[in-house]
Amino acid sequence: MENIEWGKLGFNYYKTAYNVRFHFADGKWGDMEVTDDEYMRMHISAACLHYGLELFEGLKAFRGEDGKVRLFRPDENAKRLRSSAERLCLPMPSIEMFVDACKELVRRNADFIPPYGTGASLYLRPMLIGSKACLGVKAVDEADFIIFCSPVGPYFKEGMKPIKAVIDREQDRSAPRGTGDVKVGGNYASSIFSGERAHRNGYSNVLFLDSAKHEFIEEFGAANFFGIRQGCYITPKSTSILPSITNKSLRQIALDLGLEVQERPVALEELDTFEEVGACGTAAVISPVGQLYDLDTQKVYDYGSEVGEYSRKMYDALQDIQYGRAKDKYNWTVEVEM
Ligand SMILES: *Cc1c(COP(=O)(O)O)cnc(C)c1O
Repeated sequence: MENIEWGKLGFNYYKTAYNVRFHFADGKWGDMEVTDDEYMRMHISAACLHYGLELFEGLKAFRGEDGKVRLFRPDENAKRLRSSAERLCLPMPSIEMFVDACKELVRRNADFIPPYGTGASLYLRPMLIGSKACLGVKAVDEADFIIFCSPVGPYFKEGMKPIKAVIDREQDRSAPRGTGDVKVGGNYASSIFSGERAHRNGYSNVLFLDSAKHEFIEEFGAANFFGIRQGCYITPKSTSILPSITNKSLRQIALDLGLEVQERPVALEELDTFEEVGACGTAAVISPVGQLYDLDTQKVYDYGSEVGEYSRKMYDALQDIQYGRAKDKYNWTVEVEM
């Protein structure tokens, strides 16, 4: 076993010992297969390769201060995977099957769970694809559910630092009645172009607006949006936003910190009124946003170069639960018996 430099890991694929797989055919899921093979053999006419019948999840396992290994809200990922599968007419793994497979994967890759204190964690990537060979566009009754994992480094290596993002109206990530509320690969395909342009110009993220009118804030490319104003945690409500589990958890933590929580349509004009703005998701928990640049109006929204008080408090509170430093009063974590 090589020596992994945990602190130097980024968010990249890193080969681990095993991945787990299930095949769906003849109306039922087969048994779990544990393999060290990183590849899969697939028909060139598989539906996922042509019509985007692909969906995924992302969650982490943390080695805590007490040495225990915990998954964060895997049941929520299971439920969301099921809703994505339902939307793409793919077979739905049960919640139990999902959570048990995550646990087995973590156990089998014990050597790849970063030690406590490195800031690194084990990222789990469940994916579900329609693998039936077909040519016509239709629902398929053959699928593969695979979960692999990769140790990933701390998102902010030199401590939390506000990011810069752009508002881009040229491309939308999802339509009002499209697939924005489920975690499917197609949403990412449509966000690549604007993401690349943002990166070329020195911005790390894109803030998308509602695609019907471009009047309301939706979310960042792979993270939900929140703003803090006068003791209130405000996050957009829309039919085309992915329901982030981090955001859901932060709403509870915000309440616990004495903030009021509002989940409602958030007009673009409100950007001028926020004291703090952040992007939230599993990868970073919170990425504080220091600056937002509107590509069309060239307006700059400045939230300062320091991490805001509430962003910091919420981040610490969530990480304390994930790393077993604080009481998990809502039973969000699931311990993996190693
Ligand atoms: C996965 C994802 C998020 C973050 O969700 P978490 O459950 O918090 O990781 C936010 N937005 C989009 C578009 C996503 O795909």
